[in-house]
Amino acid sequence: MIGLARRLARPEILALAPFDLGNRAPDPDAIKLDANESPFGPLSGGSVAAGVNRYPEPQPQRLRGAMASLYGVAPEQFLITRGGDDAIDLLCRTFLRGAEDKVAVTTPSFSAYAHFAQLQGATVVEIPLNPNFDLDADPVVATVEGDPSFKLLFLCTPNNPTGNAVDPAIILRIVDALPDVMIIADEAYLEFSDSTSLVAEAIARPNLLVLKTLSKAFALAGARVGGLVGPTETLEIVARALPPYPLPTLSIAAALEALQPARRAVHRERIAQLLSERDRVAPLIARSPHVRRVFPSAGNFLFLETSDTEALAARLSAEGIRVRYRPNAAPGGIRLTIGTREENDAALAAFGVSVGQTASRRAEIARDTKETRIALALDLDREAPRRIDTGIPYYDHMLDQVAAHGGFSLILACEGDLEIDPHHTIEDVAIALGQGLKAALGDKRGIGRFGFALPMDETEAQVLIDLSGRPFAKFDGSFEASHIGDYPTEMTPHVFRSLADSLGAAIHVRVAGENDHHKVEACFKAFGRALRQALAIEGRVDSLPSTKGML
Ligand SMILES: *Cc1c(COP(=O)(O)O)cnc(C)c1O
Repeated sequence: MIGLARRLARPEILALAPFDLGNRAPDPDAIKLDANESPFGPLSGGSVAAGVNRYPEPQPQRLRGAMASLYGVAPEQFLITRGGDDAIDLLCRTFLRGAEDKVAVTTPSFSAYAHFAQLQGATVVEIPLNPNFDLDADPVVATVEGDPSFKLLFLCTPNNPTGNAVDPAIILRIVDALPDVMIIADEAYLEFSDSTSLVAEAIARPNLLVLKTLSKAFALAGARVGGLVGPTETLEIVARALPPYPLPTLSIAAALEALQPARRAVHRERIAQLLSERDRVAPLIARSPHVRRVFPSAGNFLFLETSDTEALAARLSAEGIRVRYRPNAAPGGIRLTIGTREENDAALAAFGVSVGQTASRRAEIARDTKETRIALALDLDREAPRRIDTGIPYYDHMLDQVAAHGGFSLILACEGDLEIDPHHTIEDVAIALGQGLKAALGDKRGIGRFGFALPMDETEAQVLIDLSGRPFAKFDGSFEASHIGDYPTEMTPHVFRSLADSLGAAIHVRVAGENDHHKVEACFKAFGRALRQALAIEGRVDSLPSTKGML
């Protein structure tokens, strides 16, 4: 039996011989005289541009592996494309001949489906969503069923521009009812929603593909990296419509960097942050005199029905705020992307909703060296979440103490050369944490001098901090045990020195006691407590007793 993709594909595609690219497998030792490339590396561009004199791999193996594992499928069940848009175009070029072929799209939805289908000369059939923009299976099935000229059906979940997620069960009902049509579930915004991905269904069914992109949740819109998940047989046919080297070397490098395991936690935290911003903005923007309705959203944007839209548009434009106007989707329809807190507050103000100054004190640090790859996100005005993974459990526990007692949210992951020794990891993480604290404090640094003394059974620890901008570290104490778990106790003074250097602070630590476990822990706890005061109190420096004598 011939597979569905083969039955639906244009005969020209099936007859096409693949590009003859020779052996594209990467081999650093090969003398490459096969592709008329320049033997000279780029004159500028730094390390990101390394290797751009060579053609990239057609389906870059490492990136394909990384994306396939991100989506939970095998590499041959994932096809990398130049963004999700390109995947839509490829599908249209693979399956649509001309006016005799039909594509079904729901409306309102993403305009690229109809655009690329029309470019191919195909007939686009629109199926309206219900008034709440929910997708009902019945009208879709009724329109498409029994008409063999339907080749493709695009379903977007969560839907752009309206934001609503579609229950996967509804999509599967349609997939089951229409076995002769290639159905594409566009999951460009799935990372922002609670919905389950359909990838596991797609690799098991001949008539379902899932579209993915790194543009939205992974902050790589400019790199143009996306792809399709589906059965290998279908992807091999679609791949015939690809140009020989679809992905630029620089984009491959950017995507690989973004997908490093150490950065996953920060990406998750960013998504959580955008969702909490979305949920903060939604009820506020509903108060705008221009806003008639805010639709529930499962994406990183809100869809609004507005009134007096021209006046609103003039105001938004005067304030330099760009939104997407979607009057065909709803009267005065506006799609508003969720930005940073500051950006959202500016948008709210332009909509006529004033919110107090709520400057965020949040920072992200990505720090890669030969020995360690670190990503962290911290927010001084939120106490949660805290997730720390350095590969050294005791150090994780100590840093968790700092954040918990410091009263700030900390997501931190490090992939370090622990097989050599924990030294680099411990020191580099301390540097990154100091950098993050400094960045989050912004120009508020230099405000405070604080101290905290903490008894812990027989142990007493005292930490003094001056966020002076001038690094200085002093550690008064010693340890008998060489290690606590995998953590070498001798690293403790180094940690506070690294923090002092990168935070730009004077940090004095004094610890005395008998139990090394208590002593190390007391240092970190007291540091967190001193930090809590330094981070929280602002503009009350005068009211503090001078610590000059102690310093
Ligand atoms: C953004 C988007 C895409 C794909 O974006 P690319 O940047 O081309 O990867 C696909 N579908 C929808 C609905 C989108 O909004």
